[in-house]
Amino acid sequence: MIAPVTRFAPSPNGLLHAGHALSAIISHDKAKRSGGRFLVRIEDIDVTRARPEFVDAIYEDLTWLGLTWEQPVLVQSQHFPDYLAAADKLVAQGLLYPCFAIRAEIAAAAAAGLDPDGAPLYPGLWRAASAESVAERIAAGETPALRLDMTAALAAVRGKLGDLPLTFAETSADGEVRTVDAEPERWGDVVIVRKDVPASYHLAVVVDDARQGVTHVTRGEDLFAATGLQRLLQVLLDLPEPAYTHHHLIRWSDGRKLSKSKGDMGLRAMRAEGATADGIRQAIGLI
Ligand code: GLU
Repeated sequence: MIAPVTRFAPSPNGLLHAGHALSAIISHDKAKRSGGRFLVRIEDIDVTRARPEFVDAIYEDLTWLGLTWEQPVLVQSQHFPDYLAAADKLVAQGLLYPCFAIRAEIAAAAAAGLDPDGAPLYPGLWRAASAESVAERIAAGETPALRLDMTAALAAVRGKLGDLPLTFAETSADGEVRTVDAEPERWGDVVIVRKDVPASYHLAVVVDDARQGVTHVTRGEDLFAATGLQRLLQVLLDLPEPAYTHHHLIRWSDGRKLSKSKGDMGLRAMRAEGATADGIRQAIGLI
């Protein structure tokens, strides 16, 4: 078996909570148990929300959990040109188009349903815009987002895969592997390059998982549907397919999800109250 390469890829816009500990510890232990490599990646493309003190806090909390990882750490905000280069490959395939719509316009026009995150599906406002109307907005100093033409992208994938379905391999906590239909169409014409930063979460993740040679991705089940879209991008960009595990989310007893932004069950707070790293492993069901 090839030694696994795993990663923990937090966004530094809050303190880590017990759910992050679960992703990080599973990924870490998987690599270390089989002589593999464990990476930490700082996903800070959302430069308005990311803060350096949260990066420091991530390293501190992971160290407290007893985890060790390779240096140097990849920090996404230092690699915007790489994400744009990947976007260019999609442009060259005729799969991205500029969109100047603001959120209110999308909400007002939306009748297309919701994406898996519960956001309104993009109603195609700029999908068939003329070159003149695009040039006019650019001349006025506006920067567009670049959206994926999902219909064209699905056709391009068909061209590459032929009759093979677009799927990913999901491994459960007890090691059972099943094949999942990717269903990227659930995301509609999703943003691939944002207006405010020259990347998007989905694009940066697939570029970096590939460049870092990640073989196994373990993350919360709130990203399960995102994996289908990321598989689509991997095929379009000729990137390898990692194996995936989406673990259950850690919830309050009333079923509410933990929230980083609400400071819920932060590892730091648990530590201040006397928790130990082994205690955390026990609390999240890993011992
Ligand atoms: N950066 C993402 C987050 O903190 C996770 C990305 C991933 O694991 O693919 O939610």
